[in-house]
Amino acid sequence: MTTFGESRKIMSPRQMRKATLRRMAPACGLILAALLSAAHAPTLASDTSDEAQVLGEQTDPHAEFLARYAAWAKGIETKGQARGTPLTAEQTDLARQIGIAHPEKVRLVHVEAVPFPTQDEAMRKMGESLGFIGPGITNNAQAFGYTIWVRDGFTLDRPSLAHELVHVAQIERSANFDAYVQRYMQELQTYGHAKMPLEVEAYEANRTYR
Ligand SMILES: [Zn+2]
Repeated sequence: MTTFGESRKIMSPRQMRKATLRRMAPACGLILAALLSAAHAPTLASDTSDEAQVLGEQTDPHAEFLARYAAWAKGIETKGQARGTPLTAEQTDLARQIGIAHPEKVRLVHVEAVPFPTQDEAMRKMGESLGFIGPGITNNAQAFGYTIWVRDGFTLDRPSLAHELVHVAQIERSANFDAYVQRYMQELQTYGHAKMPLEVEAYEANRTYR
């Protein structure tokens, strides 16, 4: 969402990835990807014991986390549908150009802060430890499906809206939200934020609809 700074320090790939994540993640729905990656951390094992018992010994913490986040995100989508505002005629045009099949379903939700499952202790701790939530961290906008949540004080201008609408279109094209999130994370791990196809497509829209 936010634009990259022009200055680049020389960093190791690992440092670069970390720095990129810190800079970009809060604005692009990357939070989840990082959380999912972190789900393998041993410190999280105890937090998932309830589900592990239910699901049995073969529980994959990665899949479990994905399911938990996706369930939470569905609730956010429902709330957003109830309270959000539909796109204007001009915004609907933009959504169509971007390839959204059902622009009439899109809702913009203005909110003090883009939601995060802070009530989930494990998620909150991970978010904080990774630097995705907490003091000084700002998530400007995030698509949870057809709902685009925008924090108060952030101007969702045309390029920014185009970027988020691309994510909506990507989610729309996915079998479901879970599948999208899974793909997002896999791409992130394979290519990194700057080169992952889902974000490349979204940033292209920032330029196209400037
Ligand atoms: Zn993005």
